[in-house]
Amino acid sequence: MTTLLGTVPASQHTQAGHPENAIRVMAIMALLEREGVLADLERIEPRLAANEQLIQVHGLRLIQRVRRASEMGGGNLDADTYTTVASFEQACLAAGTVCAIIDDVMIGRATNGLALIRPPGHHAEAERVGGFCLFNNIAIAARQAQVVHQAERIAIIDYDVHHGNGTQAIFYEDPSVLFISLHMHHPFFYPGSGGLNEIGAGPGRGLTLNVPFEPGAGDQCYSLAYREIIKPRIELFSPDLILVSAGFDAHWADPLAAASLSLTGYAKLNQNIVDLAATLCQDRLVVVLEGGYHLQALSFGVLNAIHALTGRDAVDDPLGEAIQPEPDITNLLSNLQYLHLPS
Ligand SMILES: [Zn+2]
Repeated sequence: MTTLLGTVPASQHTQAGHPENAIRVMAIMALLEREGVLADLERIEPRLAANEQLIQVHGLRLIQRVRRASEMGGGNLDADTYTTVASFEQACLAAGTVCAIIDDVMIGRATNGLALIRPPGHHAEAERVGGFCLFNNIAIAARQAQVVHQAERIAIIDYDVHHGNGTQAIFYEDPSVLFISLHMHHPFFYPGSGGLNEIGAGPGRGLTLNVPFEPGAGDQCYSLAYREIIKPRIELFSPDLILVSAGFDAHWADPLAAASLSLTGYAKLNQNIVDLAATLCQDRLVVVLEGGYHLQALSFGVLNAIHALTGRDAVDDPLGEAIQPEPDITNLLSNLQYLHLPS
């Protein structure tokens, strides 16, 4: 059993005072080193994505826009998405490193893998950057698995607290990708999309599954939604590969959101996904970092994900559980059941 680790801290893609900065991956790596788990992982050399890999997902205009911004020394591309002189290269390195992990998992040289990369990707659409994201790493990874390794069906689970609007838009009409997003949904919460009735279109109808939680959703809500909706829907789809957009900003301590997952809740979710990959697709699973802005929640979230990926029965939770009660999701679950699991 081999678990790959690819890391792109992107130390030159960072902006003072911005929550999505280089300290994030550095803090994770410091904890992994302290906990002694790096020896259980096989490190993979970071690699630049080629233009042919980027254009499987993005239009040339967007790629040029990011490249030019970096050539000009950097600058903001929208209200909260910045670039620096190094951003184009670092974004190519992030996407390319995930693709390299995909290659090894798809040919069976590795069991599964984890990409600790920045900038994150799930808000980037084919022609639009956004929400701290330049290139959509997980979408590029999915296309790598399809184009190079002939994967037919890919399930993407996005548990970042923000809706994965970019990934949803890219695969909205695509019958080969089941996109599932669990997120906090509120008119004033970024990006505002991801409602129950966004279910895909054309040949992709029914293959976008949004689980829009009210603020306060935590361990119970996530575990119920997983058991009642997500697991049976993925089983029906029967993927060749599972990808995870792993955002740790649904933790109760995160400063950017108001969900209530604990580290233990996150760990269970990851363990469930590892078990599902074992049952459905010969363990093929690649976990890709998205958000997470409370450094301790982020670092321990990743540490527990590594425990699950490497088959170690351990959970480290120094932060404990949230104290507020969780919302009732009975109606949400029956609506999801009706939309996605008709009997
Ligand atoms: Zn997020």
